Amino acid sequence: MFELPKLPYSYDALEPYIDAKTMEIHYTKHHAGYVAKLNDALAGFPELQKKTVRELVEELQNMPDSVKSAVKNHGGGHFNHSLFWELMKPQGGGTPTGELSSAITATFGSFEKFQEEFTKAAAGVFGSGWAWLAMSDKEGLKVIQTSNQENPISSGMRPILAIDVWEHAYYLKYQNRRPDYITAWWNVVNWDQANSNFTAH
Ligand code: MN
Repeated sequence: MFELPKLPYSYDALEPYIDAKTMEIHYTKHHAGYVAKLNDALAGFPELQKKTVRELVEELQNMPDSVKSAVKNHGGGHFNHSLFWELMKPQGGGTPTGELSSAITATFGSFEKFQEEFTKAAAGVFGSGWAWLAMSDKEGLKVIQTSNQENPISSGMRPILAIDVWEHAYYLKYQNRRPDYITAWWNVVNWDQANSNFTAH
């Protein structure tokens, strides 16, 4: 059975950028809900239960039709949030580290240009979804958007950095001001984790 991973910091650790109430509800209600619904959906599929959530989402196209949408929505929700918590930390922010730093500069021209493109993508997601920095073996680093709980790994790309722009991620503190949430979020990015996602093969 899939389990809610431990949050790597307390609910108030990302204040004032991400408020404690939002963190608590996001983790204990939304993320936990995806885990519970994924478990329900896979109840009759012992072979699929043996896989990691990453493998399930990566192999989305090969899932049986009866569970495909559950893996996409609830498996994706579980996997995306597991990545997202690790990609933030108290006293985060600043600029990229390690090999990712030079790869971003080589691809986008500068960190500032990357940040501008990523911010624009996050602000521009229509409805609920995510913005990503993802690695494609063929095309290198790319900024992309996904809808709902889709993950670039289902399209053969590796997720490096992600921001959740569902309203549940920011509405209590920022209401409809998604751009303010995105601006604040840059202050809690865990660049060492993003670099680990980039260098892991
Ligand atoms: Mn969320």
